[in-house]
Amino acid sequence: MSKVAFIGLGNMGGPMAINLIKAGHQVAVFDLVQAAIDPLVALGATQASSANQAVVDADIIITMLPAGSHVRTLYLGEQGLISHARSGALMIDCSTIDADSARTVAAAAKAQGFEFVDAPVSGGTAGAAAGTLTFICGGSEVAIARATEVLNAMGSNVFHAGDSGAGQVAKICNNQLLAVLMIGTAEALQLGIDNGLDPEVLSEIMKVSSGGNWALEKYNPCPGVMPSTPASNDYQGGFMTNLMVKDLGLAAQAALSSQSSAPMGALARSLYQAHARSGNGTSDFSSIFNYFARKDV
Ligand code: NAD
Repeated sequence: MSKVAFIGLGNMGGPMAINLIKAGHQVAVFDLVQAAIDPLVALGATQASSANQAVVDADIIITMLPAGSHVRTLYLGEQGLISHARSGALMIDCSTIDADSARTVAAAAKAQGFEFVDAPVSGGTAGAAAGTLTFICGGSEVAIARATEVLNAMGSNVFHAGDSGAGQVAKICNNQLLAVLMIGTAEALQLGIDNGLDPEVLSEIMKVSSGGNWALEKYNPCPGVMPSTPASNDYQGGFMTNLMVKDLGLAAQAALSSQSSAPMGALARSLYQAHARSGNGTSDFSSIFNYFARKDV
């Protein structure tokens, strides 16, 4: 069992840290918000007075923060984690951030003799609570092999996408494709409805035809087609539109820096941005269905 420092105990980090405690790891926790720390301490975690205090004694450091700026600020510089970690500590950042920030922090860590893994996750808050997250990792073979024991306590899949930053790139490629598939599925379902089809019947047909995809199989965006999806629960729970907008922004940033042509991703970003600005930011991303739904009948 390892001594783990866990920093960033929000919607994702909180339940992830709980699963580490349940697996028997010794966990020191820190967050800027005391209310996020309290439930972890009640389960046996040690509260640190700062991020730097959390890592002084840790074999493994895990961070789960909102964006690249938070990760850079926390790790880099004289006041950063890299300057305060104990020799040989393994650093794992599970936040979804831009690949350039992940590479910058990995290089700074390496310069001080540390291994750093970018390990963004797929699976959302439900996967974090259930311990079934997918970790998409970038870093050295050795570092990822070392990370696997703690990652397995929080998830069911660990993928090695490539060198530093590759985990972030793979994650945003996946989420860009997910956004495009969700929008296309919503558009096709509404086209069918507008032309007299039952969305449940149309979904059954398309699921096993050439238009079949994950949104149709697991996450139908039309209310009432699948009882357990956010669409059938007023688009509550699931993956917030605001987070999809964030990930599509990261995909656009990556496309710009690699000069890739990504018109579908750009359109998906623009549609989701407009959807968020219309007051749907905290609804599940499948609520994009309402963008196409008829409101004049
Ligand atoms: P969140 O806002 O709920 O949690 C972030 C936490 O980090 C907060 O508790 C905040 O107080 C803390 N924090 C920020 N700066 C800090 C610092 N310097 N020191 C200590 N604590 C600090 O966000 P979340 O939903 O848990 O998401 C975390 C990351 O996971 C994001 O990068 C997000 O894109 C990614 N992600 C989220 C989901 C999801 O469904 N929520 C799914 C996949 C990936």
